[in-house]
Amino acid sequence: MQQRYLIALGSNVRHPRHGPPPAVLRAALAAMAAEGLEIEAASPVIASVPLGPSRRRYANAAARVATPLTPPALLALLQQIEASFGRVRRGSRWGARTLDLDVVLWSGGPWRSRTLTVPHPAFRERLFVLGPARAVAPRWRDPHTGCTIRHLHAQLTRRLTRRAPTPR
Ligand code: ATP
Ligand code: MG
Ligand code: MG
Repeated sequence: MQQRYLIALGSNVRHPRHGPPPAVLRAALAAMAAEGLEIEAASPVIASVPLGPSRRRYANAAARVATPLTPPALLALLQQIEASFGRVRRGSRWGARTLDLDVVLWSGGPWRSRTLTVPHPAFRERLFVLGPARAVAPRWRDPHTGCTIRHLHAQLTRRLTRRAPTPR
């Protein structure tokens, strides 16, 4: 049976062959399609400010995909693609990486195991996930809050705007 997933893509390291982060993400989408994932929609690639210890800029995007793979099988495939882009796990989360592929939402609802949590636990707090996600799945509902992606994006944007100092 076909499953649907919302995948978040990120990169902040140049790849020797594919080039700078935005080109890495376009190559990653091609690799996902070559591995049999049906890309139903892909967002434009956005550039965002870095999170955590790495000071590099990120490129981010989101894709809505269809596949018969179960959540753990999809995670294994995404990790295989990350590895094929030369990502080395050095223990530091949020460090420099060529390619990060996260499972944000699944059409089957929540999934929880030792290695995989869906919805992705942090996606509601990340504009660089919600922005691209809104471009491909505005009406998809988060099973935990019942809110659509469009709504989560609007809420977070409001919160962040309120917190920012007023320009003068
Ligand atoms: P973050 O999850 O905060 O975005 P990250 O993407 O940098 O951090 P990774 O190093 O890519 O973290 O992944 C660490 C582990 O997270 C993976 O080995 C994987 O087992 C686990 N994981 C749990 N839930 C998910 C998910 N929804 N998507 C991808 N990986 C997940
Ligand atoms: Mg991530
Ligand atoms: Mg990840």
